[in-house]
Amino acid sequence: MLNRRALFRGGLLLTAGAAIGAAAATVPQVWPQRHLPLDGGYAPAADRLDYDNQGRVSVTWHVETTEPVVAFTFDDGPGPKWTSEVLDTLEHYEVPATFFLVGQNVAAHGDLLRGRLDRHEVGNHTWSHPDLAKMDAPAVGRELARAHDTIKSVTGREPKLFRPPYGHLGGSTLLGADRAGYNLVLWSTKMNEDLYVKNPPGQAQDIVEHARPGQIILAHDVGSPNRYVALSQLGTMFTGLRQRGYRFVTVSELMALGQPVSGKS
Ligand SMILES: [Zn+2]
Repeated sequence: MLNRRALFRGGLLLTAGAAIGAAAATVPQVWPQRHLPLDGGYAPAADRLDYDNQGRVSVTWHVETTEPVVAFTFDDGPGPKWTSEVLDTLEHYEVPATFFLVGQNVAAHGDLLRGRLDRHEVGNHTWSHPDLAKMDAPAVGRELARAHDTIKSVTGREPKLFRPPYGHLGGSTLLGADRAGYNLVLWSTKMNEDLYVKNPPGQAQDIVEHARPGQIILAHDVGSPNRYVALSQLGTMFTGLRQRGYRFVTVSELMALGQPVSGKS
């Protein structure tokens, strides 16, 4: 099975292939274009690395650990409809979480977060939630920087983790993350609200039964009405997971429990 790691490696190979292909047309293209859209994907080959970057970032969607820990993450907020309720639930159950914030939502609704992020972590989810795989590196950089500055000024926290919208990765995203000093975070399981519209407890059961150590769980505190299916079940999930021996950490805490990653921390 072609897993995410293979796809990621494929992206890097494609990058190298594109660069070599430009210099010597006789080199065969190993990865057909139909497997990976190229918009933004070959940015490392196309852009001059004329800034002080490391030439690498880490991409984490799961952490290898034997400890029974999972990290809940909430994307796209803050929003006036559900963010306060999610924070209330997290506070009631004393569960830390990681919020991947959209910069323009922080600018509009940042008051929802003030004084409420005590045990939580904030991450960067871009300024306006575009598909970064279709943007070049300078545009990705602007999306990241504008969100970073807004999150920092409104929350007082400096985000270190970056989740690209839709989990789409292009070379320009890797470059932008490197330049801004971010590491990338995806997810290893997610809410499937549309499946459980008529059976919300089924969503809780799905998360509790399929939990495994090191999981990064994706939820949304902003979005279509169906998103509330998962949010309404958070308490049941936390209780059920605790009964199975699980505890909860932020994504950075989870990453610190895993295998040490050389380079960025
Ligand atoms: Zn999103």
